[in-house]
Amino acid sequence: MQVLIIGSGIAGLSAAIRSAELGCHVILASPYVSERAQSVMAAGGINAVLDPSREGDSIELHIEDTMKGGCFIEDEDTVRGLCTAAPDIVRWLDSIGVMFSRDPSGNIAQRAFGGQSRDRTAYAGASTGRQIVTALIQKCREYEIVGKIERRIGLNFHSAVIHGGRCCGAVFTETVSGRIVTLPADAVIMAAGGMNRLFGKTTGSSLCDGYAAGRLFTQGVRLRNLEMIQYHPTSIETPNKRMLISEAARGEGGRLYYEEGGRRVYFMEDEFGERGNLMPRDVVSRCMYRCPSQVYLDISFLGEKLIHERLQEVYDVCMDYLGLDVTKEAIPVAPSVHFFMGGIKTDDDHMTDIDGLYAAGECASKYHGANRLGGNSLLAAVYSGRKAAEACSERGEAKGGPDADAVTAEAEAGLAAAKSSDKGTAADSMLMKLSAIMNSRLGIARDEKGLRAGLAEAEELAAEAVRYDEGLSVYENLRIKHMLILSKAMLMSALVREESRGAHYRQDCPETKDEFCSCSVAEYKDGAISISFGDDARSGVKK
Ligand SMILES: Cc1cc2nc3c(=O)[nH]c(=O)nc-3n(C[C@H](O)[C@H](O)[C@H](O)COP(=O)(O)OP(=O)(O)OC[C@H]3O[C@@H](n4cnc5c(N)ncnc54)[C@H](O)[C@@H]3O)c2cc1C
Repeated sequence: MQVLIIGSGIAGLSAAIRSAELGCHVILASPYVSERAQSVMAAGGINAVLDPSREGDSIELHIEDTMKGGCFIEDEDTVRGLCTAAPDIVRWLDSIGVMFSRDPSGNIAQRAFGGQSRDRTAYAGASTGRQIVTALIQKCREYEIVGKIERRIGLNFHSAVIHGGRCCGAVFTETVSGRIVTLPADAVIMAAGGMNRLFGKTTGSSLCDGYAAGRLFTQGVRLRNLEMIQYHPTSIETPNKRMLISEAARGEGGRLYYEEGGRRVYFMEDEFGERGNLMPRDVVSRCMYRCPSQVYLDISFLGEKLIHERLQEVYDVCMDYLGLDVTKEAIPVAPSVHFFMGGIKTDDDHMTDIDGLYAAGECASKYHGANRLGGNSLLAAVYSGRKAAEACSERGEAKGGPDADAVTAEAEAGLAAAKSSDKGTAADSMLMKLSAIMNSRLGIARDEKGLRAGLAEAEELAAEAVRYDEGLSVYENLRIKHMLILSKAMLMSALVREESRGAHYRQDCPETKDEFCSCSVAEYKDGAISISFGDDARSGVKK
């Protein structure tokens, strides 16, 4: 059986390894090598209850924290699956070479992270994501050598090939030549990451543009919880992006404050007590949003030894970009777009609305509800990648799809019409305009007026995008169109959720309402977007 995996971050790599273990032949396609995936940026850690005797932690508590952090809109059994698998996942990563930091007894060290009632975040120095990616690549190579995994670089996902309601491959655009490449498969796993590019400067990678989710949306895949956009409380401004100051800094004891009348106001501790700085990210970001002046994060009192041992990355980032020595001075911080709880809707097996098409990792929406806990995303990326692979191999028996050449010819013919011009690009200016809309209308605090204005602005930009058609390459053209469609669906999801919950804070509807205690679902039909509430994912209901 041939499995095509799109995206080679932690979710894609995990899916590839599991598929190969189960005897499938895998093609792992992405525009860039795995070392450039956003996954390598993850610094803080990955959550698992490794030792229940420690601090009285338990899988039940991990589930409870995740449900509470996500404001109870996820299905508890689904979250249970994730948290129950976590200890085995971390031990497996350890066994394949992830260099987890150790405590004095030699056990995997675990630290405090936001929104968690116990210290359960395992970490590999200050580069957990990079270490996991490196170990997964090594594991992949074992299967590459025996021909079970084939890695294809330089391929941008273009569209899914759907025949008779079933996904049987995908069309790509080659990065360098612009050539169309069609890869047939018995099952496809989408693992293309988040949607950061819609917001311009974020803590994440601009290579995560949400195009894949937007494109699949127009091909019949529903999306969910798009209004749930996580603002990480602590980032610093740099010329090209916002650099994350990992939650580990607060996990190790860092304190947030602002100054008033010459004294420090530790606003999180004042409001929430001892663990106040480690409240879930949505809570901290909202509190910072209301602060009357610049907020600072102080870790200097932790001492040079601890900072260099456990928070070296924070030290380096502040020294490199701000010339600031965190062992002596506090860091000026501000919230930034960081993670997308929303994305492609899947059933429990991670299959989308289209038979044979699966989604895993940050591009899928499954476990984090209205707000993700730090350390739960790396976990979900590995878990969902493996789960999707298992479902493919169980459910996706080769069903004798259409002739590969016919699929290729059809896809190429469909594209030929659009390929009339391939000149310069106004893409950057379009994307800047789009990110301005998204930042101003889908910020930490939203309201109906702003969201309606955002929709009108996105409509205007879409009209401009049509006028720009002639000047853009085929892929850029498609990319912007689908990013705009996705942005509109996000704005609409935020508009119809007339309440405040988790990362979605409506100034005009500040209360949380029982009637909205569910996931939002966006659907695209005949060029129109509609939003509903209620998730039939568990029943596996297909469109
Ligand atoms: C700065 C930072 C720190 C973080 N720290 C933590 C942490 O400590 N703990 C935690 O749990 N989470 C953390 N996260 C979140 C976590 O890193 C991500 O959610 C997770 O790594 C996503 O993995 P992924 O495989 O789904 O996506 P990615 O790693 O983003 O991989 C996506 C892949 O898809 C490819 N791709 C993209 N578009 C296309 C396309 N059109 N066609 C083909 N391929 C495409 C990319 O090239 C890439 O290979 C952090 C995130 C950031 C930004």
